[in-house]
Amino acid sequence: MATTLLKKKTVVNDPVEPAVTPPDLTTETTFLTKPKLVAKSKKRDIPEGLWDKCPKCKSLIYDKELDANLKVCIKCNHHFPIGARERIHSLVETCSFEEMDAQMESIDILKFTGVASYEAKLAANKKTSLLKDAVITGIGRIGHHRVALGVMDFSFLGGSMGSVVGEKLTRLIEAGTDRGIPVLIISTSGGARMYEGMFSLMQMAKTCGALAYHSRRRLPYISILTHPTYAGVIASFATVGDLILAEPGAMIGFAGPRVIKDTTQAELPPGFQTAEFLQEHGLIDAIVSRNEMKDRLMYYLDFMKVGGLATE
Ligand SMILES: [Zn+2]
Repeated sequence: MATTLLKKKTVVNDPVEPAVTPPDLTTETTFLTKPKLVAKSKKRDIPEGLWDKCPKCKSLIYDKELDANLKVCIKCNHHFPIGARERIHSLVETCSFEEMDAQMESIDILKFTGVASYEAKLAANKKTSLLKDAVITGIGRIGHHRVALGVMDFSFLGGSMGSVVGEKLTRLIEAGTDRGIPVLIISTSGGARMYEGMFSLMQMAKTCGALAYHSRRRLPYISILTHPTYAGVIASFATVGDLILAEPGAMIGFAGPRVIKDTTQAELPPGFQTAEFLQEHGLIDAIVSRNEMKDRLMYYLDFMKVGGLATE
């Protein structure tokens, strides 16, 4: 009996041996339950920061391989979230991007406090995302086209649109209009930033106003929707593009599916609010994979130039 106990204890406390193959527990009947051991060995199988598990096909992908493929699963084409800087880097020509308003930061004008104060939230998000706010804007070159490019980043307060996001985008659009170049905005957002109340809602009208002036000059605006794009952003600048593109599988909508289901008390159709569903129903013009985005943008910009819309 004593020998059996000792043997069981050795299996349980072994922290060194990597359990590539989980130990055979079929003979163990006492002391520890099977799930506890399985969970432990799983944790050891995936060292943090080296591998990612694809939520769609469940494959394990080496981080460096995922980065090299612009954070798109090699096996099933699932698009993982990507930061604004990485995305800009994947689109513009080397050293051609000049950032605008890089130092612009949000302030807590309403002194808003919910679970945490807005000020504390801003400080924490700046630290974790290494960004000043949820959008990066600037002028860069894609192929031979100079463009005004704005890219949102979900890692800063869920990509929410506050005064700074709205102001930076408006200034970007105006810079595009002044220079006579196309505007491209890549969105990912949970919507308006409610910590800023009415000031965040005003950004919807402000950005759309600037886009209307841009359009009057017959200059193109391309909107690219990525996962997820919702609420105040979808209800303003993100859906008024001359061309609206989306990444595969992106969830796009105004209110979330759960809210709609609860409100309407109706079953939602399969694929509701996915980019593919919205393309079928006419909101989105084309679904473009992240790896093909740059080539496709160059093609569209060439086409718009030929079609009479001016680009530099
Ligand atoms: Zn996958």
